[in-house]
Amino acid sequence: MTQFLTCTQFQRMSDYASSNCFIALCDLINSVPPHSRDDQFLYTKQKQLKSVIKQTIRASLEFAATGSDVYALDHLRRAMDAYTAIGVRVIKYSHMHDQGSLLKPLNRQLTHWLKAYKDLGEKSPLREEIRVVLAKYVADTGQNPTELSRHYFHGLFKPLNHRTLVPHKTPLSTGGELQSQLALSPCERDEIGRELEKTVAKFVALFGKKTVMDYVSKPLRMVVFKERKQYVCYGNYPYRINTNNGGLFVKGEPSSPHNQPSLYVYYQERKILNLCHEFVHFLDSKYITYGNSAYLPSEWVTFWQEGVAQYLSGQGEAYAAAALRRDPDGQRPSLSQIVDIDAYSADGHSDRLYVWPYYVFKYLASTPETKDIRSALAIALGKPDHGGAYKRVLTEFVTAHADRFNAWLDTETILAKTAREGANAPRAAAAARA
Ligand SMILES: [Zn+2]
Repeated sequence: MTQFLTCTQFQRMSDYASSNCFIALCDLINSVPPHSRDDQFLYTKQKQLKSVIKQTIRASLEFAATGSDVYALDHLRRAMDAYTAIGVRVIKYSHMHDQGSLLKPLNRQLTHWLKAYKDLGEKSPLREEIRVVLAKYVADTGQNPTELSRHYFHGLFKPLNHRTLVPHKTPLSTGGELQSQLALSPCERDEIGRELEKTVAKFVALFGKKTVMDYVSKPLRMVVFKERKQYVCYGNYPYRINTNNGGLFVKGEPSSPHNQPSLYVYYQERKILNLCHEFVHFLDSKYITYGNSAYLPSEWVTFWQEGVAQYLSGQGEAYAAAALRRDPDGQRPSLSQIVDIDAYSADGHSDRLYVWPYYVFKYLASTPETKDIRSALAIALGKPDHGGAYKRVLTEFVTAHADRFNAWLDTETILAKTAREGANAPRAAAAARA
């Protein structure tokens, strides 16, 4: 991997294979467990790894400055994380107690690379991006920001303050607090409140409002960014979330009273994207699904989580119907395939995560018998048995309903296609008149 990446790194940064290879390498560097054999192996290979990371940091800064590569900032963030991980690994295995003297050359190296950017204007977006990755680097290498030499980083480093990042705070009528970058008007606040209340009402009508066992988390914190760029920049740090998505709910450890369930969303075209979808994930974590995110295998519960979020948020219908019209007959997944999915196995196919699980929920709402199955699944998800009961109910459902679900979906397909023809009719008539 390192050979592949170093041979033509500068030319190939935008290349898909090269980018994926780099991401995989960074994931490897960042995620091997401390003191494992892999960890020690990576320590012995630090020279080759450093060479790739060094080239990428310099190239991604150049590309970001010229705006010639849309992935440059993503590569910069990943490369800086890897640079930090390599530095921390060196400190760990060097058996030297003076951590400061080991960090000095790392700081000096970064300072050297950043020299070309020292004159960026105060309001330059790249300056802010550099500030954020440096703040994360300083925090992760355990350095005290106030003790850093003022010669380091050419004034590009300044600590980040949550209070200035999301200065506007409003209590939510459904509980918890909304923290936003922009000051919201009373009208905007009311609309958010109405949407969340409507979602709660729909949720409670199906599942009630009994909190799952051991749930003692703090009230919800909803962080609203003014745009996607800000979500991605500060999602990296200080929030440390995966931003390869359209918003995120982080459940944490619900059985800890210190746990802060947090929902991260951003504005797109004057609306908060996926607000209710992410909010349903919060409701699901509080009232249906027991435990933290590691408690149940993701490929067991992802269909449930995404399906219920699409179904109750009110944003699933049009999106799903479009996919149904697009999908050639006989190409759609079976019911057993639909319920066996997660973000990894979906591999970028968002239909698998959102469309087909949505239809399972629509099907579950179609008869009294399937509504009972839906309730049985919800009750089973609340049991602290690592999904044992849930898996049994789900398997029974899939076995008994595979054919009926398929026949029902055939009807949905006809309805979706007819609705489209109906919607096209006035346009066709207008065209005929012209
Ligand atoms: Zn979701």
